Amino acid sequence: MVGRAPPARAQHPPSDRPPVLRRGGAAGSSHIVHGDGDGWVTCERGHPHWGRYGAAGLLLRDRARDGAGERDRVVLQHRAAWSHQGGTWGMPGGARDSDESAVRAALREAAEEGGLDPAAVRPVGLLTDDHGGWSYVTVLAEPVTPVEPHATGGESVEVRWVDVPAVDTLPLHPGFAATWPRLRTAPPGIVLVVDAANVVGARGRGDGWWRDRAGATRRLRDALAPLAEGLPAADLPGASPADVDLLLPRIVLVVEGAAAAVAADRRGGDGGGAGSGGAGSGGAGPGAVEVVAASGSGDDAIVAVAAAESATHRVLVVTADRGLADRLAALGVPRVGPRWLLSRIDRERQRG
Ligand SMILES: [Zn+2]
Repeated sequence: MVGRAPPARAQHPPSDRPPVLRRGGAAGSSHIVHGDGDGWVTCERGHPHWGRYGAAGLLLRDRARDGAGERDRVVLQHRAAWSHQGGTWGMPGGARDSDESAVRAALREAAEEGGLDPAAVRPVGLLTDDHGGWSYVTVLAEPVTPVEPHATGGESVEVRWVDVPAVDTLPLHPGFAATWPRLRTAPPGIVLVVDAANVVGARGRGDGWWRDRAGATRRLRDALAPLAEGLPAADLPGASPADVDLLLPRIVLVVEGAAAAVAADRRGGDGGGAGSGGAGSGGAGPGAVEVVAASGSGDDAIVAVAAAESATHRVLVVTADRGLADRLAALGVPRVGPRWLLSRIDRERQRG
């Protein structure tokens, strides 16, 4: 099935490049194993699309504010003139393989086409354009270390940063042009800062926290990990219709007192630590949750994390502590109570 010629009118966006592009030319060794997603399908709306299991693309957006000033830019790919929708600009992306998540496919394509190191990128959200029988998932991401993209394959003329206001001045791929207005207004990634002592306390004696605070905190950390893989944006307090469908939150669990031991064990055995920058691979496991041990007051540590992160991200703090709530309000950082978080954890448990 792979490598079949495209249908005669393969015009509908965001169908991607035809098989000959992936298969043609020198044998790319990385293509030998994967590629079972290559092929055309017809969606339930009757369009031909590239990608038997759907397609995914990476929208890497850098909106840092630092010594160099403010910037807001995205990585775009200028497609080779001879490719499908040739000469247009869009996200690096392509067909998903049968066993490949949208995040993995988008990171792979961005590495193949734009030389982007997956470890330098953190996925922060997913936006799905579902046609029934075929979908295109845009993986929104942000750089965690400086990224200098460059064209690495024959499918790209150029892969580079483009300032957000300049995107509309380029000849855009029709599929990308259709989603860009929504992508452009999507808020930045979210950091969920969890007051461990408060949330563990809210769960109550049933979790044994009186006897073993570190153990109860460890269970909370493990229960949070699935949320890092996808939190519906509609679940947020003050949810915005401009938001993406699914958020991939950075989760920071702030621990104190006897529970501080949890911060020390997070690099051991189960899943590996992601470090403060995060691997961004979307992997589950305890490593998906960053554990910060407060050196002094837990409240001070939470306020410090919230203040630092809110410069460039959305922040949501989970606590019912009154004093802390007042300090967060003064910073303009939103807050929810433990019940909000616990109900989401319970929902994940029911699913799993
Ligand atoms: Zn379609």
